[in-house]
Amino acid sequence: MSTVPVQTLVRSKRLRALLSVVATAVAACGVVIAATATPSSAATCNGYVGLTFDDGPTGSTSALLNVLRANGVRATMFNVGQNVQNNRSAAQAQVAAGMWIGNHSWNHAHMTSMSQSQMQSDLSQTNSAIQSATGVQPNLFRPPYGETNSTLQSVASSLGMRQVIWDVDSQDWNGASVSQIVANASRLQAGQVILMHDGIQNTRDAIGQIMANLTSRNLCPGMISPSTGRAVAPDGTTPPPGTTPPPGTTPPPSTTPPPAGGTCTAAATTTNVWGDRYNTSVTVSGAGTWTVVVALTAPQKVSSVWNGSASWDSSGNVMTVRSNGSGATFGFTTMFNGNSSARPQIRSCTAG
Ligand SMILES: [Zn+2]
Repeated sequence: MSTVPVQTLVRSKRLRALLSVVATAVAACGVVIAATATPSSAATCNGYVGLTFDDGPTGSTSALLNVLRANGVRATMFNVGQNVQNNRSAAQAQVAAGMWIGNHSWNHAHMTSMSQSQMQSDLSQTNSAIQSATGVQPNLFRPPYGETNSTLQSVASSLGMRQVIWDVDSQDWNGASVSQIVANASRLQAGQVILMHDGIQNTRDAIGQIMANLTSRNLCPGMISPSTGRAVAPDGTTPPPGTTPPPGTTPPPSTTPPPAGGTCTAAATTTNVWGDRYNTSVTVSGAGTWTVVVALTAPQKVSSVWNGSASWDSSGNVMTVRSNGSGATFGFTTMFNGNSSARPQIRSCTAG
């Protein structure tokens, strides 16, 4: 028997509680909205971030949509198929409120332990439920718990969906307070995606402050591009308006691709930590195609890599990741194997 990661267990219990309780408990609550926030259309958008809400629709989806509308926010809803089937009108309300709809599996299982055909039928069934309820064909997929592998990614891809994890975890599923959720969201940078959830009161209560922080940094909520997995303008255009340099400034160096073999910059962030493993997100700047060398500390071991092609040296501790057309950010999951403190180090970033 393998051990169950503690946080995963807590989270799955929480989800089950949400699935069964929220519909009845929250439906009875009245919601008062103070429509004092500035709509995002009035803001100067120098970049976009992807706000995502998982595990809905729930009995409190309409409360969430009210808060989002009051703040002029469009977001991406990663819906659970079974919940769509049970809350068809809530799924329709998401689309009517201008939200984008993604696939978050049929019933939030741990999908990496499924066979390829089980994955296929789980995701297909979810897409059918979403399409039947809303007319929308999802082109984004988020694996439950952020747990993925190459088989799951290729199944999603074969169904026309790009896998999207997240750059920032709001920790709302983990009991984070409103101020903690706001603080986590304040780490969002242009192009990045944050994980939040439908059905959590603190999350709804945090949205006004999250928007105030984003607005102060000239960041606006956008859609997640199905081709890059990054946040772009709501109409799908990229780069966003407002990035034209003011007169007298020189164009940013990124407009001239460096020659192959030149250097680039790779910045690593720990995006999520569980009892037995953690996720790292690495964003490359200064090169469209790149090779990043990452050193790990034994006995830690990488268990999966996304948005890049990885190979290892003979020690198994040095990983080389090459761009594979999935954009400038790749990620990987590392198993602690007894060492929960070490974090990967970027050795080099090379263009081409
Ligand atoms: Zn989820």
